[in-house]
Amino acid sequence: MKRVVIADGLRLEYTLIQAQRRDVLFQALPEAGIRVYAPKYLPLREVDALVRERAAELTRMRREAEAGLEKRRQAHPVTDGSPILIEGRRHALRLVRGQRRTGRVSDGTYILTLPDPDSDAAVRAALRSTLSAMALQRIRQRLEHYIPRIGRAPGRIAIRDQKSRWGSCSQKGNVNFNWKLIMAPPEALDYVVVHELCHLYEFNHSPRFWALVSEQMPDYAVWKKWLKQHAEDLNF
Ligand SMILES: [Zn+2]
Repeated sequence: MKRVVIADGLRLEYTLIQAQRRDVLFQALPEAGIRVYAPKYLPLREVDALVRERAAELTRMRREAEAGLEKRRQAHPVTDGSPILIEGRRHALRLVRGQRRTGRVSDGTYILTLPDPDSDAAVRAALRSTLSAMALQRIRQRLEHYIPRIGRAPGRIAIRDQKSRWGSCSQKGNVNFNWKLIMAPPEALDYVVVHELCHLYEFNHSPRFWALVSEQMPDYAVWKKWLKQHAEDLNF
């Protein structure tokens, strides 16, 4: 629900998402604005008070999120014909108007169908969702390939939108992968899959852990470095 507070004479609008949680999370998204996730039992005036206390910080977070989007817009335009990396290769983006959001690779192009191809935000959202689906499919295949070799299987598999992490593994053995990996070369994606599977044995980054990774992928260091150097390219 939309809420408005006045802080230091300024009007601050935010979207409140009441959820089953114990803490309050503040988020600033370009275009979507400020989002606050709060426990259901927390009275609205208390949420408002928390937002008011953080008004300056939230305004700064929002400005930074918008500046970040503006930077990506310049570095990675998503108009018809723009280059887009898929599995490490440059494809030309083709925008097609259509009712259902779909994306498919065809002959060096990525054909993205969506209802509103004229909206930059809608194109970015459609790219994100179609490429996330592709990432999940691809990551499942690679997990199936490596699980018998490594000898352990993860619990839940999830695709995340993360700024600076390619993957993670929880103590319970659930694994998360960044959807942007679908833009990286297949070997780089494989490295992250192997990395997270090896955490099912070694929940650390000890020499023993890296020895396991290296057993599966002797040249893993090349791809580890590649991801570090190209993080900015795998975005839009
Ligand atoms: Zn790790």
